Amino acid sequence: MDTSGPIILWFRRDLRLADHPALTAALQKGAPVLPLYIHPAEEDPGAGAASRWWLHHSLSALDARLKAVGARLILRRGKPLQVLLALCREYKVGSIHVSRCYDPSTEKADRFLEGQLRHQGVLWQSHRGTLLQEPSSFFNKSGKPFQVFTPFWRALSHEEAPPAPLPAPRRWPWPSPCPTGETLDSCGLLPSVPWDQGFQEAWQPGEAGAQARLSAFLDTDREVYPLQRDLPGSKGTSRLSPHLHFGEITPGQIYHATRNQLSMGSSTAKSPMGDAFVRQLVWREFAHHLLFHFPETLREPLRPAFKAFPWREDRGLLRAWQEGRTGYPIVDAGMRELWATGWMHNRVRMIVGSFLVKHLLLHWRHGAEWFWDTLVDADLANNTLGWQWIAGCGADAAPYFRIFNPMTQSEKFDTKGRYLRRWVPEIARLPDADLHAPWKARPETLDRANIRLGKTYPQPVVNHMIARETAMDAYHRMKAQG
Ligand code: FAD
Repeated sequence: MDTSGPIILWFRRDLRLADHPALTAALQKGAPVLPLYIHPAEEDPGAGAASRWWLHHSLSALDARLKAVGARLILRRGKPLQVLLALCREYKVGSIHVSRCYDPSTEKADRFLEGQLRHQGVLWQSHRGTLLQEPSSFFNKSGKPFQVFTPFWRALSHEEAPPAPLPAPRRWPWPSPCPTGETLDSCGLLPSVPWDQGFQEAWQPGEAGAQARLSAFLDTDREVYPLQRDLPGSKGTSRLSPHLHFGEITPGQIYHATRNQLSMGSSTAKSPMGDAFVRQLVWREFAHHLLFHFPETLREPLRPAFKAFPWREDRGLLRAWQEGRTGYPIVDAGMRELWATGWMHNRVRMIVGSFLVKHLLLHWRHGAEWFWDTLVDADLANNTLGWQWIAGCGADAAPYFRIFNPMTQSEKFDTKGRYLRRWVPEIARLPDADLHAPWKARPETLDRANIRLGKTYPQPVVNHMIARETAMDAYHRMKAQG
């Protein structure tokens, strides 16, 4: 097999230059390296509209990073095998380096590509992706995949620390003649109707944006995160999720930056693994390992009993939920934040999710699909874990009978209504005490706040107590069948 000659570095969900094992390995060979991104020929069914917006800007940022070290991102469109073979022929490429992706369909596609390329004399070299451990070799004491978070986290805490982050290259061995590609605009990733104004204000996709966000987050008082991470009205969490999804930053970089900061500060956490923030990264890791071992959970509940759950079909209710018109302010605030910025606070994701599957009795897949289309951090593994957790049918899930009360959640986590007032301005003039359940406010209070329920703000689409009982009833019927 001829492995000499130029090398392709195929960028996928690893859109960065630093701490990039595949990139470091490719550059170490000393041969010219072609930095490639392949955009699918047809409309990509794997990406939602918000993710496509992010991808456009992330690719543009990656191209700028490459330009600074003397290269350009080569953008080609088509089926990966055809694009790779064409480039291999054109440039006499001997090997292709990639970062491993762990989702079921990419894993399968990679095995196919590796075989096909081998037949053509091209070496496929895959490297550590953006996880702390390889899912194919990380098991519990019985040699089985973990299905419960705490033992998973404990086992991970006993592993060696992730390797120190690799530096970004300073120069890029660029092939001659210069490879050509398509323009980013021709990929049509940006929306044709310009709804992305809020996105532009909220985000800076790309590696520099990710590093800036991490620094800003680590500059805040580390002891505050566990207290504030549940308060949607505060900027208490890192908002690194889209950067992590697109591989603009690695969990290893975050781990080491946190460790450096902990060693300087007065935190009570003895190691990064004991830090509440790093623990969230372990949830991400857990989600990816679960999807790797249980790929069917994308569509099916991990707990088979839930296949018999009597879900309801109601397009009107689904639409009201999607558009933030349920009459429950905390649910509506979350859904509107999502629409405007492509992101929603984790506590609110849990509340709106619970409302969809328990108050409205709509299938969690409807929620997962909407999130998939609207989140900039839409991630198969995290989204699947989140929705199955909420619906009570996944690994280590919240029991179905624990039904979130949207009013008490709202009072507890947004007591002063900062979040509600920002995203549901039509009820902003209500006093704090009435903000969480406007339909309970006295008529004169509503008048003073200029609210006409059913006109300026919806009446609740369901009654909380009745919805709760109906959900419990559905749950008992499902159990009786099992
Ligand atoms: P931080 O609190 O700063 O946490 C740091 C990182 O840890 C996050 O960026 C994320 O990568 C990871 N993380 C945090 N919480 C979780 C969690 N519960 N599960 C897995 N990883 C976590 N996250 C996604 O990245 N993509 C999704 O598509 C997604 N869908 C979700 C759907 C539902 C119904 C729920 C309940 C949660 C979902 N999450 C998803 C998890 C979580 O809400 C987000 O990761 C988090 O809100 C991102 O904000 P942050 O970066 O400020 O988090």
